[in-house]
Amino acid sequence: MPSRYDVVVVGAGIMGVSSAYYLQKNNPGKKILMVDRYGGAGQGNTGRSNAMFRNTFSSSDNQILADSSIDFYFHVQKELKVDLGLQEIGYLWLMDETQHSKSEPSLRRMASNGIEIAFFGRERLRHLLPGMMTDFGSDGDAEVMGLPRVEGGIFGPKCGRLDPDRLVRFYVDEFVKAGGNVAFGSDVTKLVMAPSKPLGIEGEPLVWQEARVAGVSIGGSSGADVVADTVVLAGGAWLNELLEPIGLDGHVKAKKRQLFSVYAEGSKLEKLLRTAGFNPLGLLPLVILPKAGVHFKPVSEERCFWVACEDELNRPFVDLPEHNLDGYVAERQYYERGIYPVLTSYFPDFNGSRLKAMWAGLYAYNTADNLPLAFKAGNLIVVGGDSGSGIMKGDALGRVVDSLYRHEDEAQLYGGRDYRVSKLSVEKRDVEREEWVI
Ligand SMILES: Cc1cc2nc3c(=O)[nH]c(=O)nc-3n(C[C@H](O)[C@H](O)[C@H](O)COP(=O)(O)OP(=O)(O)OC[C@H]3O[C@@H](n4cnc5c(N)ncnc54)[C@H](O)[C@@H]3O)c2cc1C
Repeated sequence: MPSRYDVVVVGAGIMGVSSAYYLQKNNPGKKILMVDRYGGAGQGNTGRSNAMFRNTFSSSDNQILADSSIDFYFHVQKELKVDLGLQEIGYLWLMDETQHSKSEPSLRRMASNGIEIAFFGRERLRHLLPGMMTDFGSDGDAEVMGLPRVEGGIFGPKCGRLDPDRLVRFYVDEFVKAGGNVAFGSDVTKLVMAPSKPLGIEGEPLVWQEARVAGVSIGGSSGADVVADTVVLAGGAWLNELLEPIGLDGHVKAKKRQLFSVYAEGSKLEKLLRTAGFNPLGLLPLVILPKAGVHFKPVSEERCFWVACEDELNRPFVDLPEHNLDGYVAERQYYERGIYPVLTSYFPDFNGSRLKAMWAGLYAYNTADNLPLAFKAGNLIVVGGDSGSGIMKGDALGRVVDSLYRHEDEAQLYGGRDYRVSKLSVEKRDVEREEWVI
């Protein structure tokens, strides 16, 4: 006998856990199950991320989704006293003149949405970051790499670090406290289709019958192991694996992304780690260089930096990703020959620095506009397409999923702001393309 639920949520990354929590909290009588193929929550790409948050985006929608989620995370940490490891170190986007003037419309949008930003001129940056090269004169290598000079920096103070593991644990604990059920180690092999009004005839649902998702099959059985009135699919980079067999497009493509941890201890980098003047913590913010999206953040307690880069052209998409993310390995050459020369040109203190660790995960890009998707297809709700910044918008997206479930046009985001949920749908999509992807 299959088990029956009102809702089954597939995926226990940030999108799944936040959705499950709001569904259970706002629909208290409902029987809800969250499943994941891994042994616990947050073990997919949520657990492999750079663990950063920011409200500085080019699109208004990303600004609002992230800003309200960040407010909620601070509420959890400050008022509910659950330590989510939030550290407001800020983001510093270094730019040349062209990049700065290109970002004017985004800066105006941020100002009109109440997103706090500050401009740091070249001289101020030189004073705060004496070890940084702002131009390269006749340096041949810099010319070959086409490194822009640093004219200034856009600083976002309401940005910083968080602990994704603790965040996910918070949502799962609250979900379970509210009566939710979890099943880890459960691999959903397919969405099971059935007619809305079964007639018991062979081959149904037939074309003239209204088809719906009747539940999910777990671990390769042929029928539905879990029958559900509504299925929420929060499968991250693996969305298409369940959607394509039923003829639905998730509009998501996966791409490998890599992170490199570099020792700071015992070198000049230790001083850079603790650069004062940007935040009350006396720490360097996350710094984005004006070339190839190379960026690095301080991890002061581990006395190291995490370094990454924006992969766009020449990095293939991954069709139907492997289930085991360990199959995606970080490439030493990519760091040493790609990132390192750019990094050391702007910050020579990194010269001779040693790699401590490296790992890789998958971004789930919505290739149309780099914003998340949340849409309904009958009794199926799909959420995903985070494009590399889903943790920082996780709270808002969970609320959007719950509003879709309750047929509400607007989700109430933390802080009381109403958000029209159809904006993130496919058919009535109404968002500007996100340009600030790193
Ligand atoms: C290198 C890197 C750096 C990043 N840095 C940041 C950052 O600094 N800040 C930020 O906000 N975001 C960052 N991201 C993006 C962030 O990790 C994602 O936006 C977020 O994790 C997406 O959450 P998710 O729940 O959609 O996916 P996931 O966390 O991947 O969760 C999906 C879950 O669904 C489960 N699942 C899928 N299919 C099935 C199935 N058929 N059966 C059972 N279970 C299934 C998987 O096992 C998985 O646990 C980064 C990503 C990477 C790779």
